[in-house]
Amino acid sequence: MVAVPDDDEQVTEHRASTFADLGVCPELVDACDALGWKQPTKIQVEAIPYALKGMDLIALAQTGSGKTAAFALPILQALLENPRPFFACVLSPTRELAIQIAEQFEGLGAAIGLVCSVLVGGVDRIQQVISLARRPHIIVATPGRLLDHLTDTKGFSLNKIKYLVLDEADVLLDMEFEKSLDDILKIIPKERRTFLFSATMTDKVKKLQRACLRNPVKLKVSSKYSTVDTLREEFYLVPSDDKDCCLVYILNKVPGSMVMIFTDTCTTTRLLALMLRNLGFEAIFINGKMSQDKRLGALNRFKSKACNIIVCTDVASRGLDIRGVDVVINYDIPSPKSYVHRVGRTARAGRSGYAVSLVNQYEARQFKDIEKHLGKEISKREVDDCELMILKECVCDSRRIALKAKGDGWKRPRSMRDDEDDEMEGHDRAARRSGLSMNRYRRVKHKR
Ligand code: AMP
Repeated sequence: MVAVPDDDEQVTEHRASTFADLGVCPELVDACDALGWKQPTKIQVEAIPYALKGMDLIALAQTGSGKTAAFALPILQALLENPRPFFACVLSPTRELAIQIAEQFEGLGAAIGLVCSVLVGGVDRIQQVISLARRPHIIVATPGRLLDHLTDTKGFSLNKIKYLVLDEADVLLDMEFEKSLDDILKIIPKERRTFLFSATMTDKVKKLQRACLRNPVKLKVSSKYSTVDTLREEFYLVPSDDKDCCLVYILNKVPGSMVMIFTDTCTTTRLLALMLRNLGFEAIFINGKMSQDKRLGALNRFKSKACNIIVCTDVASRGLDIRGVDVVINYDIPSPKSYVHRVGRTARAGRSGYAVSLVNQYEARQFKDIEKHLGKEISKREVDDCELMILKECVCDSRRIALKAKGDGWKRPRSMRDDEDDEMEGHDRAARRSGLSMNRYRRVKHKR
């Protein structure tokens, strides 16, 4: 087992073992058992022994690696030895990730009466003040809302915390949380343990590490840019105007699969979801402009398989624990780093997965960059032009109706616009009235 020096290309050694071998106490071994975790993951094997020894950690690990439990188990074990409120604070860049982290703490702490508070923006502050009054052991927060409470909520302070976790530190710093983080670091005790988790080691992360960790052990469990062997990766080179048809063409090839479609803008998520619904697909969307409730609602509908297609911005590509995704479609081409995170939503835990990218003439160079970073060529696929031609009319009609709905939506007051479900339903009715349906396409295809 190796602590990595400054060279972040090194990969730590991995030995298989049990949670008990790592020094996890019987209560928490039972909790892992109850969650069905048979063996610790790599990052858990690497991190837990050091964390239990009371050392600071900096770990390069991605979502899906089991990193949450890698910091949660040592914190809970220390809490069991010295139970007290406001014991640890975990900072996360997004609300969804914060909720997920809290759920894992609660899952692991179910038998030991753990109390957890989630402090994130976009939801009722009063409820959060009430939850703070319960004197939680663990606080999971986004930096802005935590700072609000530290400033405004009477009697709340973190001056006794023993553990600070910075999760997805690279995103935390990317999202302009730097100032809030600085302010938080100024007011929490210097005598504490700090765990910093990040998918990549950026200059900002290095700076943060110097500012808030003491002689940390550095761990790494995977290389910076790599995709797993069980993932099939392909791309289609299509003119911009044909992207929608190509998207539908691909969706027709994977009927019933759980699909995540990634786009660059919030507007496109909505437009594509409406367009696909017009064509009879069970599609919903999620983006950063939606209210917290709507985001969670959409996420839950997808997770529970009420809808099998979710169109999203990168807000959904990191941090979220969404299982069972079969296909990832890149409608827009992202940076190499985002590509790895997006396609990492599928082919998890040894399952096979399929990632396909729609590359237009302007994105070809950007896509080459992805291949360069991955150190491999991605297979090119050709569309069947005849099929694309047949799809065209239907897809264009559905897009036109979706665009019109979007225009109407913009004009309505915000409170009404927020109601995505009503809008979706109304939209579906309008589309049905216009006689649009994928059946029409299927009939045409059949005649051929
Ligand atoms: P994370 O990387 O923390 O987001 O974890 C990804 C998923 O792995 C979560 O759903 C955890 O419940 C699950 N998980 C964490 N540790 C283990 C383990 N040792 N065995 C199986 N699943 C795990």
